[in-house]
Amino acid sequence: MICVETVESIVEEARALVEDPSYPAARRWLEEHSDGKVLGHFQVYFPEELAHAAGMLPLKIAGFDTTLQIRKADAHLAAFVCSIARSALELVMSGTLDILDMFVFPPICDVARHSCAVWARNFEDIDSQIMYLPHNAASAAAVPYLTGEYRRILREIEEVASTRVTDEALRASIELFNENRRLIHELYRIKRETPWLLSAVETYLLTRAAGAMPRERHNELVRRALAAVEHRDAKPQDKVRVVFSGGFCEQPPLDLIAVIQDACYIVDDDFMVGLRWLTEDVPVDAEDPIEALADAYLHRSDYSPVQHDPRKPKEEMLLRKVREAGAEAVIVAAAKMCEPGLEEQVGYSQALYEAGIPHLVMEFEEKTTTFEQTRMEVETFAESLLFEFA
Ligand code: SF4
Repeated sequence: MICVETVESIVEEARALVEDPSYPAARRWLEEHSDGKVLGHFQVYFPEELAHAAGMLPLKIAGFDTTLQIRKADAHLAAFVCSIARSALELVMSGTLDILDMFVFPPICDVARHSCAVWARNFEDIDSQIMYLPHNAASAAAVPYLTGEYRRILREIEEVASTRVTDEALRASIELFNENRRLIHELYRIKRETPWLLSAVETYLLTRAAGAMPRERHNELVRRALAAVEHRDAKPQDKVRVVFSGGFCEQPPLDLIAVIQDACYIVDDDFMVGLRWLTEDVPVDAEDPIEALADAYLHRSDYSPVQHDPRKPKEEMLLRKVREAGAEAVIVAAAKMCEPGLEEQVGYSQALYEAGIPHLVMEFEEKTTTFEQTRMEVETFAESLLFEFA
């Protein structure tokens, strides 16, 4: 008798990694690589290939939920700062995450920019860097500029890892991460086309685990999950198809995603968007692999409130996502105190209103614990739409 793994058991493996703030898979990797170094970064896009090619383990530090008590970080960051900045700092200050050798902040907002100085001042052993992204992504100078910036970050990485990175190593890493993006895009394709076969929570956990473990092992995990989905026997339910917008940086609590999926199919979203930021493979045979990575970031990429590119008007991109996902409505969320997210919420709402697409506006915080009010709002929203579409 052939024993087939279940999606549930593989998702539980992913959950164990995602819900443990000490990053157990990274610790196991360090046990296996006694000279190994770890590079953490905020989860909005970072070219992890640069760290991987140097033999480092790149980790996405996406904050943490209510189980992490914020005790020390509040002394260093103002109360009006978003939760992810505080919880990421707390993870290190409390010693929960004591494995970082380098940390890279993208300059996505004032909070991220200023956090770098806080980290640099408080953690002597962590090389804290800002990776300066081009302000005008459409400029002809953007690719040469970003290539130069990636080279500068790579020199820092080489210093920390005590190695020199070759183009061959970069190409091998690009190939690995291309595969990872293809696998994650496939999870999303299944969720979009047959959301009853792979729920939003399952897709989220399987995807987010990528940032908490070596990517080679994550590729294997997702391959197993995709094989297991083929044996799933589930029937479609009468649920409204929605797109969730607002999870590009601070992540909504898992329970919030669960509350929404109880009433709706979340057929597309921007959770952990950095893992899917590049929408096509980065050419492996490019003469200059660093330039190829910069080019992909600027020209073959997704959108978010923290990248400003006149070729990708965010409202139009959201409407396109809704159309392509066959969604009937949108949850327009934003993390509390997230200036870019809250600002974009206004533009998204206006565009959806003008396009006649029903939407529900909400705020969240990674450490929210009660969802009864949200459950009532989502259920009322979903029921009113089912009634309207009936
Ligand atoms: S949640 Fe918003 S404000 Fe906070 S670091 Fe991310 S983009 Fe910046």
